[in-house]
Amino acid sequence: MEHPLSPAAPPALVRAPVLVAGAELDVAEWLPVVNPARTSEVVGEVAMGDAGHVDHAVQAAHRAFPAWAAMHPRERAERMSAAAAALAGHVGRLGELLTREQGKVLWETKLDVGGAGYILNWYTGLADSLAEDEVFRSDARGTIWTGRRPMGVTGVIVPWNSPVYLGFLGIAPALLAGNTVVVKPSELAPLALGEVLRIVAGHFPPGVVNVVPGGREAGAAIAGHPLVRKVFFTGSTATGQAVMREAAGNLKNISLELGGNDPAIVLESATVDDALAEELVRSVYSASGQICFDVKRIYVHESHHADFVDRFTAAADRLVVGDGLDPRVSMGPVSNRAQFDKVSGLIERTKAAGATVRTVGQQLDPGSWDQGLFLLPTVVTDVDPKAEVVVDEQFGPVVPILPFADDAEAIALANDTEFGLAASVWSTDREHALRVARQVQSGTVFLNVHRYGASDVSMPFGGVKGSGIGRGHGLSALHACTELQTVADYVDVSGFPGPDNR
Ligand code: NAD
Repeated sequence: MEHPLSPAAPPALVRAPVLVAGAELDVAEWLPVVNPARTSEVVGEVAMGDAGHVDHAVQAAHRAFPAWAAMHPRERAERMSAAAAALAGHVGRLGELLTREQGKVLWETKLDVGGAGYILNWYTGLADSLAEDEVFRSDARGTIWTGRRPMGVTGVIVPWNSPVYLGFLGIAPALLAGNTVVVKPSELAPLALGEVLRIVAGHFPPGVVNVVPGGREAGAAIAGHPLVRKVFFTGSTATGQAVMREAAGNLKNISLELGGNDPAIVLESATVDDALAEELVRSVYSASGQICFDVKRIYVHESHHADFVDRFTAAADRLVVGDGLDPRVSMGPVSNRAQFDKVSGLIERTKAAGATVRTVGQQLDPGSWDQGLFLLPTVVTDVDPKAEVVVDEQFGPVVPILPFADDAEAIALANDTEFGLAASVWSTDREHALRVARQVQSGTVFLNVHRYGASDVSMPFGGVKGSGIGRGHGLSALHACTELQTVADYVDVSGFPGPDNR
């Protein structure tokens, strides 16, 4: 059957090339990028950059670095504003492209793509914070200044789930700080980010913004390259560990934004109603559960558990699953075959282990269902707190809901994991929620929401334990791609310890 959104003539294939100092490099291997809503549709092709391409890109970025670093921060900010303005007319087109290559629904991909210009502009507001060194101390003994200096060539390694937004959370602060960048899009969602970067790169001197799409080889070559001084990595915990090893060769500075297994804790003092259940449904299933800070497990006080499960299941049942380009759809497909197989296998093993697994939600188009990587929203109850679906990051539209008896048990369950990205505590008693929130081991704890604000570019965000190192967003990210230099001008050292002053 013809898919309802099949265009009369398929759009032209989009290419994601290796782009170094404004020129495309020859690449031997290209892979197709397929539409997860209809896997027979090839949306474009991605260059599989290798270590040689990475070396070219890093050398170009290294050559461009001194002049870019020497520019006044406000002048760098002007280039960033111009790049952001150039993107403004492309958000609709590139949002559609991202939906076709990655699967999220259109409003989600427009936010993702629109994030590039928004983040570039937001960081321009911090230019003055870099312009002057601060006087740290000034007295009769002399003056000490501190100032933020760029680090050098910065590698930005990007995952497939929110490629443009996450890419620019590294790119924008790195550029403002005076670093040059080599960006590596994921081979699984490289097209929209590649198009955005092609537009952006033209607004900077050659070599300031370079792009090497590819997979593990290209990522490892960036993380291991001796001329790369900083790596902003966003991705899974296992790959983050590999990046840490690869980056050890020249002791690179690294920022690691890694996986999450976010708990939502619904306290005894919460009012469980449909509004709460619907908000948690949105927090679990947005982007088909493929956001690092989506809720991945829900703990509900035993007095509310049965009621909450009923309301949550009913709300999840109203989700409509299908091609994200269709405005009736609230949840798109899983983004790629590997992730689809991983989540499907997890659901099967959870059933086999004896948990209650309910599949809910509506298929928009049952006739073309099997042509895409679609999974319906799935709710798991009667599950062991140590089960794989509870302790691992599922990164898909399936969530376990477990009861707890008291706060101490809820906190222990929430913390009994290697992850610590975000969490939420739900209660009508703010003091109660705060008491619990402060004991949860995670980089961010939301009260009575989950999601809102996690993408706020101004708010520090990052994980504890296996969820990462460092804090992204805002001033934290700008500081994370600068070195703090101390300049000390002592005119009187007579008071310091030494052979003459004992
Ligand atoms: P991934 O770790 O598989 O890949 C991330 C990137 O690393 C890709 O570009 C990949 O090609 C590259 N890569 C692979 N091997 C590498 C190596 N040895 N050295 C360097 N780079 C290498 O992650 P993914 O599947 O693309 O993304 C999903 C994961 O990302 C989830 O775990 C999710 O929670 C996490 N994530 C975290 C955040 C956050 O802010 N904490 C945000 C989004 C996604």
